[in-house]
Amino acid sequence: MNSVAQDIKDRINIVDLIGEYIRTQKAGANWKALCPFHHEKSPSLMINEEKQIWHCFGCGKGGDVFGFLMEIEGIDFKEALKILAEKTGVELLRFNKNQPEFVDDKKKTLEILELAVKFYEKQLWDGMGKDKILDYLRERGLNDQAIRDFRLGYAPNGWDNLLKFLMGRGYSTNDIAKTGLLVAKNEARGNGFYDRFRDRITFPVMDVMGKAVGFSARVAPGGDESQAKYVNTPETSVYHKSKILYGLNMAKQEIKSQNSAIIVEGNMDVIASHQAGIKNTIAVSGTALTPEQVDILKRYASKIKMLFDMDSAGEKATQRSAEICFQKDINVSVITLPEGKDAAELVQKDPKKFIEASEKATPIMEYFFQQFFRKYDGNKIEDKKIIAAELLNIIRNFGNAIEKNYWIRKLSQKLDVSENVLVDILKKTETRDVRQPEENLKKEKVSKKRIEVLLEKIAGLMLNSKILWEKISNNTQEKYYFSENKKFLPIFEKGREVGYKFENLISSLENKEECDFLQKVYFDTKYSNTENGPMENDLSDSEEQVEYCFNELKKEIGKDRLGVLLNDIRKAEENGDKEGKNLLIDEFNKLSQEIK
Ligand SMILES: [Zn+2]
Repeated sequence: MNSVAQDIKDRINIVDLIGEYIRTQKAGANWKALCPFHHEKSPSLMINEEKQIWHCFGCGKGGDVFGFLMEIEGIDFKEALKILAEKTGVELLRFNKNQPEFVDDKKKTLEILELAVKFYEKQLWDGMGKDKILDYLRERGLNDQAIRDFRLGYAPNGWDNLLKFLMGRGYSTNDIAKTGLLVAKNEARGNGFYDRFRDRITFPVMDVMGKAVGFSARVAPGGDESQAKYVNTPETSVYHKSKILYGLNMAKQEIKSQNSAIIVEGNMDVIASHQAGIKNTIAVSGTALTPEQVDILKRYASKIKMLFDMDSAGEKATQRSAEICFQKDINVSVITLPEGKDAAELVQKDPKKFIEASEKATPIMEYFFQQFFRKYDGNKIEDKKIIAAELLNIIRNFGNAIEKNYWIRKLSQKLDVSENVLVDILKKTETRDVRQPEENLKKEKVSKKRIEVLLEKIAGLMLNSKILWEKISNNTQEKYYFSENKKFLPIFEKGREVGYKFENLISSLENKEECDFLQKVYFDTKYSNTENGPMENDLSDSEEQVEYCFNELKKEIGKDRLGVLLNDIRKAEENGDKEGKNLLIDEFNKLSQEIK
């Protein structure tokens, strides 16, 4: 492995890094967590602190710190290296020289966005926003610390303030345009760009690591109110709205420790909540939660509490968000505020009341039942039909069958309609199951050939024992069994070089697939996944296990060979080749004896 990468690994603990993204729990000598890469209810992701590696028994993914970062951020090795180098203070110069393409587009875009944040901040604190905007924000109840923490800023009036500033820093209009901060001029008026934000309060949108990836900007007080109240930067190579939650970089620790996230509607609500000490608060950038956002939240917490305005748009957003939560099987409830209060106001004036309301959040299905039975009359036949249709439409989304059934029963009781009738209605309108991929995964596992299973078992025992690894690598016949399958090659080719040590082998591999496969083999042998998380297996009899596996392997290969021989015997018979047929029968009999 690249020595820079090794330097980085020496300075970072994998448990801390993974802990920044998901909730982890100590389990014996290891750590376990719900895997963020596949759907599951009990934890099968394991982190081995001693070896500084992780592995998921559910989906088979695993690796070192770089592997985890690449997987969760969807980035390549170079980007992961860059992020962790920055984090650990390891110099990347040596690396940069060899890899000039390292300074890529995305990096430049992030650089420009960070400069823009600083530019707008400066305008707010020392520039044109100093009086008007700062006063306004303070009047709205924000203190200076919160304004600084969330890095609010001001985009002054004018067509090219930011553009000129960034060009002065040596960036081309093309590069700047990639941030989404510019708008292309109408072609009739000549080519070129102008600033997207003019006379607006800027709210940088950060990714989970706290890097600015986009902006939301509010019209300034006394500004041109005919324009949209909020304008956002569009999707770019670094800004994917469906995956961003406003404030998550500030809230993630608290969300983890409380095991719940509060979702409010606007950026201002988020900032006000944090200022009041309610720090597990975030906002969605669109109207409703997206499946990607729920996946991200599930890494940190198992509960979501929603607080949307209860106008008709808010109702719809709540319902759509809830449906996604049901599909993703995450607990969701609704916070209702005392009559006539808005979130930001309540949180500023009476944070205790807000916390109280959040603790009394209504489980979302109960909330929907209340809503529809309030709106319609459950005793009238016409209304019954509407209530059934509306609620079944929501219930259908449950990924969990027990929960689905529970709510159907409850609805049947409340409407005084038989459960079967409701189930029939549901079936008629049922769409396909949302969780097919997991099924496929299971099928794949079952169909694996026994020979393959045995080879993997032996390889796993080798990777867990220096003695066995060395012994089998030097045994020509035993080695031969693995020669058909390239995936095992590194074990035999690199064993000596890496001192027959698993973590050295993994570090020496550049190919991710090879690496993933061998880790799976190693971990499947070392640990069993139990209800209480991964448990270490007793490998004291691994020599006997290997011997047994090789014997079974010989039998399995023999069986395959018998099949081939039978086929050949039939062919020889068809061709009238008596001599050949007899030879084949001899071999068949001999082999049958051998593998008895
Ligand atoms: Zn997994």
